[in-house]
Amino acid sequence: MELGEDPLDWLKLLKFAKKNLSVAGEFTVGDLPRLTEIASNSSDKIKVNYSFYVENDTIPCLDGEISLNIYLTCQRCLEALPLSLELDFSLAFVKNENQAEGLSEHLEIYLFEDEEQSLIDLISDEILLSIPMVPKHDIDCLSSFRENNNYEQGKENPFAVLKNINKPMRARSKNGSTKK
Ligand SMILES: [Zn+2]
Repeated sequence: MELGEDPLDWLKLLKFAKKNLSVAGEFTVGDLPRLTEIASNSSDKIKVNYSFYVENDTIPCLDGEISLNIYLTCQRCLEALPLSLELDFSLAFVKNENQAEGLSEHLEIYLFEDEEQSLIDLISDEILLSIPMVPKHDIDCLSSFRENNNYEQGKENPFAVLKNINKPMRARSKNGSTKK
């Protein structure tokens, strides 16, 4: 069953959840527009397994696994930076915050406000969240750039989604204040 292209609306979500629909599918990196902006290997596969189920009698949930190789650009030397990602996620879709009460802690609450939601977008979110904001080789690939914190210069930062985490200067001394 091809779900990727079909937008999910609330009724579909409920239906899939009640049926405990389980899908194994494949995309390519190029199928995910927001990934192609930062990845150079658009023809490589992304494997996705996901299953829908119902929690607390009414809440549609989605467990998923994503595995892919992605080639980013090292922000230090500007050469290719391959990453191998294996991700798990568990989402609970709610229409309002009240519905989130009493749900298992491991579920990430997803406020379903839009009329419909594409699965491709959900998968893109998960992948983008797992990618370092400033991808760099582990080794000191360009020693002249060592400890240079001017990440903002050069190309437009493709990780704008996560931008707030990278607050300049001021909040330096505080740790862990960016995540709740
Ligand atoms: Zn590098």
